[in-house]
Amino acid sequence: MTALPRFPAVVTLDQIRAAAARIAPHLRRTPMEVDAHLSALLGVPVWLKLEHLQATGAFKLRGATNALLTLPPEALARGVVTASTGNHGRALAHAARAQGVRAVVCLSRLVPANKIAAIRDLGAEVRIVGDSQDQAMLEVARAVAQEGLAEVPPFDDAAVIAGQGTLGLEIARDLPDVTTVLVPLSGGGLAAGVATAVKGLRPDVRVIGLTMDRGAAMAASLAKGHPVEVAEEASLADSLGGGIGLQNRLTFGMCRALLDDVVLLTEAEIAAGMRHAYRHTRAVIEGGAAVGISAILAGKITATGPVAVILSGGNVDMDLHLRVMNGADDVGPQA
Ligand SMILES: *Cc1c(COP(=O)(O)O)cnc(C)c1O
Repeated sequence: MTALPRFPAVVTLDQIRAAAARIAPHLRRTPMEVDAHLSALLGVPVWLKLEHLQATGAFKLRGATNALLTLPPEALARGVVTASTGNHGRALAHAARAQGVRAVVCLSRLVPANKIAAIRDLGAEVRIVGDSQDQAMLEVARAVAQEGLAEVPPFDDAAVIAGQGTLGLEIARDLPDVTTVLVPLSGGGLAAGVATAVKGLRPDVRVIGLTMDRGAAMAASLAKGHPVEVAEEASLADSLGGGIGLQNRLTFGMCRALLDDVVLLTEAEIAAGMRHAYRHTRAVIEGGAAVGISAILAGKITATGPVAVILSGGNVDMDLHLRVMNGADDVGPQA
């Protein structure tokens, strides 16, 4: 019997190391902090990686910056394009402005005016097209084909995955005896990159993906053995929503090979994780960033040694955050 290769050769530890050197001047080095309450609960030291303190409020700046800095000069001269209104769009707009590169963000007419204004404030050019995200994606494809803009995808891209993987290098360096890493999971760019980095350095470390039990496309795809579509539902973990692409090239295979487990969280568990982060660390984090804490609080994690928990972002609507701090256990009425 021939053993399957343990590490798919799509993104390598060397690529992640090169990304770290490339992006370092443009990013914050986020700290790790021990959480005494979670440590007592689990019986092993639990360290929080405070990546919600990253510039633009989420780790996405790592991948977007690395992708931008690896594009050829001709492409940079024409500009970059995306359809993300969330943390990736924000990161790409920020990175493009820092490099003096034109960024175009394609949005559907359904995107609220405050979000459009926020993207414009970052210096990006906004194009409003159609009535759905699918139509915004068609405009991205058109801009790539007809205007020569370079698409920077939110997760399924080698340079993006390598950029997100730099977070794993920092965890392995700051917590050399780490045994388990808890990673929020959506499209899988973060999990694929972090797992490649930490397992490349310390092969015995377990990497666990965490997501909501409502409409999580990667979890459903891993369970089925191939990429599937799921119906999207409102969740406190809005940044973990969205599909993985039926034509997924990289992250599905990497997550299948590298993740030791995937844990699903209810809305009430996600809310409890957000409250814990605020009460014990004074961390204002979005639901998608709380899932690691949530899983420990819910008794869904066991570990034999130090655990690293990635707090992936802090871009939460302040009214929603306040409602959750006051005890709300789901998104409630949408603004
Ligand atoms: C994008 C995002 C994730 C998930 O990252 P993927 O690479 O899509 O798996 C987790 N947390 C936050 C805050 C994000 O913005």
